[in-house]
Parts: sequence; C-alpha cells; structure tokens
Amino acid sequence: MRDRVIEAVGTGEDVIEETIRPSKLKDFIGQDGLKETLSIAIQAAQKRRKPLDHILFSGPPGLGKTTLAHIIAHEMGTGIHATSGPVLEKPGDLAAILTTLMKGDVLFIDEVHRLSPVVEEVLYPAMEDLAIDVMIGEGPGARSIRLDLEHFTLIGATTKIGLLGSPFRDRFGLISRLNLYSPEELAEVIRRSAGIMQVRITDDAAREIAGRSRGTPRIANRLLRRVGDFALVRSDGTITREVASHALTLLGIDALGLDDLDRRILTVISDDFRGGPVGLKTIAISVGEESRTIEDVYEPYLIQIGFIKRTPQGRETTPAAGKHIHQLWW
Ligand code: ADP
Repeated sequence: MRDRVIEAVGTGEDVIEETIRPSKLKDFIGQDGLKETLSIAIQAAQKRRKPLDHILFSGPPGLGKTTLAHIIAHEMGTGIHATSGPVLEKPGDLAAILTTLMKGDVLFIDEVHRLSPVVEEVLYPAMEDLAIDVMIGEGPGARSIRLDLEHFTLIGATTKIGLLGSPFRDRFGLISRLNLYSPEELAEVIRRSAGIMQVRITDDAAREIAGRSRGTPRIANRLLRRVGDFALVRSDGTITREVASHALTLLGIDALGLDDLDRRILTVISDDFRGGPVGLKTIAISVGEESRTIEDVYEPYLIQIGFIKRTPQGRETTPAAGKHIHQLWW
C-alpha cells in the first residue's frame, strides 16, 4: 500500500511536468535564433513533403532539448520514440526500435554521447542510407542481411558535444546549442507554468524565483512548485515576493540560486585548495558527488556567473566566488 502511495506522488509530479511542457514552438520561451532556424526547417520540410534532417541539440540539462524534440514531432504531425544512450546497450536494442519507425517519425536519443560504439555503428548506415545490417544466426553459418528503414528523423541531445566523434556529428544536418536563459525569460516560463497550474503569482515574485533558477527552466519550474507548496501552507496560496524569498531561503537556495552543494564545491576550491587549480575528481571526492554530476549539472552555471574557471591544470575559483561564500556565512 505504502509503495502505491509513493508511486502516486511521483506520478503527480510527472503529470504536472507533462502539462507544463510546451507542445508548440510558439509556446517555447527564449532561444529565439534556434526557434527561427527550426521553424524554417520545419516549414521547408513540409513544403517538400519530406522528413526533417537529423538534428543534434547540445547544452546543459533542463534547457529544453527533450521538449524541442517533442515540439518538432508535434509540429511535423509525426510520431516520436524517445530513448537514451545508456538504455541502448546492444545493437539489437536499437534495431528493434528503428524497424518499427514509420515515415517521418522522430527517434529521440537523449545523452547520445553515451551510446556504445557498437550501437553507434548501427546508427551510421541508419542515418545515412536508411538501412541496417542485421546478423542472422551464430557461428560459421551466421550471415548478415540488409533491412531498409522508413525515412525517419534522428534527434540527438547531449550535454557534452565534445565527446561525439566527428563522423557521427557530421551526419546531423542541423547542430544547435541551447544557451542558459536570461532572468526575464525564466520569469516568463514561471508565469506561464503558474497559469497552467492555476497558481497566483505576482510579477516581482516570478522575477525573484527566476533570479535564483540558474538560467534553467527545469529548475525554475521545480522552485515554482516548492514555493507554491509553501504559499499554500503558510499563506493564502498567492506567491508574493516575500513568500518566494522566505521559501527559497528555507530550501537553502541563496540570492544567486546556489544550493548547498554549489557552495561546498566553491568552498573546497576556494578555501581547502586556496583557490585552485584542483582536479575535478578531487573536488568530487571532497563533496561526495559524482564527477559527471558536478561537470554537467553544477559547473556550467558556476562558470557562467564567473565563479569558476577551467584551466588545463584544473578548476580555479575567482575572487568573486570567495567573496560570495564568505558573505553568506556572516
Ligand atoms: P533537457 O532535455 O534539455 O534536459 P527538458 O526539455 O526536459 O530539458 O526541459 C525541462 C523542463 O523545462 C520541461 O519540462 C519544460 O516544461 C521546461 N522548459 C524547458 N525549456 C522551456 C522553454 N523554452 N519554455 C518553457 N518551458 C521550458
């Protein structure tokens, strides 16, 4: 019984996530240059009555790569099959999906840099020649047969474009990087989500949450939900700037949107290693978090706000970072 309740809670959050995810390009906030490029590509493909070219999105987590893949399928009026690099362990896993795709369908592969080389090798001819070679049987009698595929569109998403080999990258017709969002854009994301969730929020409260959302819509939506809970329990349900600020402080999120782990990372480099340079692994061990999480989730924003520098010798903090963490302790 207990498990079922826990599952229901998880599903509740997932349902909210799905309802606030924009499904049309016009509802996708920010990334204007990219939206225009996509809109032109979509309209051109529709005029030619041909599927879209393969597309690669890169950028930190939570910026809208998955959302864009769904929007593209929606705007093209096609189906979408979503999977991710680590899930596709064997060539057969990918072949099973590819052979079920219909003309124009989108195959979305998240974390495409984590595809194994053997699976990547199946993907090359699939992308280029719309065919795959399947091995039938085992041992000396084994033979390979070529299967033709429907004309599909691959949309890959990666937080680490540098890990993709150039033969793979070159097979994408459109490669785009998503950038961190401005506070104004995030305030718009928050106002839009609050409207869908039927939560009242003042403009200055939306700006307050936006300013602490590290340039990331996923974080903005998550903070909005937590602040909304707080407003409901401790106030009349309306999110004012005061309520937002109170709730965020309670969550341990400071004025710049940094949480406890951000501050620990900065403290390790700035205090324990006198400003660095320190290797990523050493930082990871010191704060008890995986190197990949630090590099993909925490570091991009700390670099963007000028608190961390990457040098060939390792990570360094800037004087501004030292000032920020010590200010907070007073
Ligand atoms: P990624 O795939 O890059 O990790 P997602 O596409 O899953 O990111 O986006 C995370 C959440 O943020 C989505 O559920 C969506 O609601 C929201 N989101 C992302 N980008 C935008 C945007 N430009 N406008 C509105 N909401 C957005």
